[in-house]
Amino acid sequence: MSDTTINSDSPSWTDVACQHAQAVTNSKLPIIEPFRIKSVDPIQARTRPERIEFLEQCHGNLFLLPADAVLIDLLTDSGTGAMSSEQWAALMRGDESYAGAKSYQRFEQAVQDILGLPHVVPTHQGRAAESLLFKILVQAGDVVPNNTHFDTTRANVEAMGAIALDLPCDALADTRSNEPFKGNMDLNALEVVLADDRQHVPLVMMTLTNNAGGGQPASLDNLRGVRALCDAYAVPLYIDACRFAENAWLQHLRDPDVAGLSVADLVKHAFSLADGCTMSAKKDGLANIGGFLALRDAELAESARRVMVVTEGFPTYGGLAGRDLDAVAQGLHEVIDEDYLGYRISSIRYVCERLDARGIPVVRPYGGHAVFLDAARFLPHVQAAQYPGQALAIELYVEGGIRSCEIGSVMLAQVNSETGEEIPAAQELVRLAIPRRTYTQSHMDYVIEIIDRVWQRREQIGGVGIHSEPPVLRHFGARFHPLPQSNPVSA
Ligand SMILES: *Cc1c(COP(=O)(O)O)cnc(C)c1O
Repeated sequence: MSDTTINSDSPSWTDVACQHAQAVTNSKLPIIEPFRIKSVDPIQARTRPERIEFLEQCHGNLFLLPADAVLIDLLTDSGTGAMSSEQWAALMRGDESYAGAKSYQRFEQAVQDILGLPHVVPTHQGRAAESLLFKILVQAGDVVPNNTHFDTTRANVEAMGAIALDLPCDALADTRSNEPFKGNMDLNALEVVLADDRQHVPLVMMTLTNNAGGGQPASLDNLRGVRALCDAYAVPLYIDACRFAENAWLQHLRDPDVAGLSVADLVKHAFSLADGCTMSAKKDGLANIGGFLALRDAELAESARRVMVVTEGFPTYGGLAGRDLDAVAQGLHEVIDEDYLGYRISSIRYVCERLDARGIPVVRPYGGHAVFLDAARFLPHVQAAQYPGQALAIELYVEGGIRSCEIGSVMLAQVNSETGEEIPAAQELVRLAIPRRTYTQSHMDYVIEIIDRVWQRREQIGGVGIHSEPPVLRHFGARFHPLPQSNPVSA
């Protein structure tokens, strides 16, 4: 026994900690991944000549690359995240009963608890939920306003013979502006549409976050404004909820009026304004597959269930295995964790800030799920008709095995129905989507260096032409050929 006895004068741990805290400088600690790795998935670098050979084989379309030709896969954040140990455990609890499985009850409960929408229809992914919603609400000749339609949402609206109308706020067009809520809807434009043509507007949609527009959030105020217009014209409001948690976190960070609210509360507020939502659980469901349509109206939910049995499956599994339903239920609880969201958003900011500091044109403010490069400013000598975004995405692959995704005129150009000419997209972006909980900071450092190398030789990079393309969602199947750099930039 030590002869040091404890007496009433001995300081407590709290006293000692207080003294230390005063001495410590307030240096900022790095934000670390709030998890450790339990299972690893090896990745392997190819040589540059091998990558060029792969590029030949896939005709410059990165969607057609075999995944093992890719080193860092930032094609999408959809279904590419890592599940937690609790999600893997949930898989084992999966109830594979055809009807009324316990997995469905847990899934339904999670959606009801987190989003506050009562009627839950599972689907195999987001686009199936969109297809169901539009089949029950939209008719040929209708117009569906949205802050910005995602590609599958647009395709599903158009499949009904309706018009997908994008009404983003003005700030979205300026990729340099730091407006905090560029995902907002243009309320004046929406009012004009409703005032002119209410009878052809079956619903209004808000995409949270605005994926096609750079992962930009919409504010709670803007959502309230949209709801007020919907009320005034008696039109239902639906949310494309794919990144609802990231949207809420960005509201929490950027809007002083709501900074005091938790993410869970912000989510509740947003969805209390909606008549329903479509969701891809491959995004903020933190799962590898899954989705749902959630509705406030019981009769509408019944209509959706009648339609879904034909293509998706029985209403309590919707094309998913019971275990998938359980993984999503658990994922929905994990995605609103503020440590997780803080880490996710700051790792994206980490990349953007470093690119920005080197003068590389990234979309500002930094968005929720991806780093967006502004290809129009990265390759100003490449015209929109020569697809600068596709050209840049190809170079990132050749330089460092990084797979990214063009979100520009390849994906979103429209055709002038009179002249048959292509109308370029509003922006030429390259999206480097960051899978959830999958890559580490050193992977991000590598990404920064590869982008910088391409930036250093940008003046030699020419555009691409389209050799052949499928009739819908052409970015998935188009074949490209390189064009020579025909507008040499003077040094
Ligand atoms: C991914 C996505 C969808 C479609 O979801 P899938 O699961 O890919 O079918 C719809 N809207 C947005 C905003 C998305 O990001």
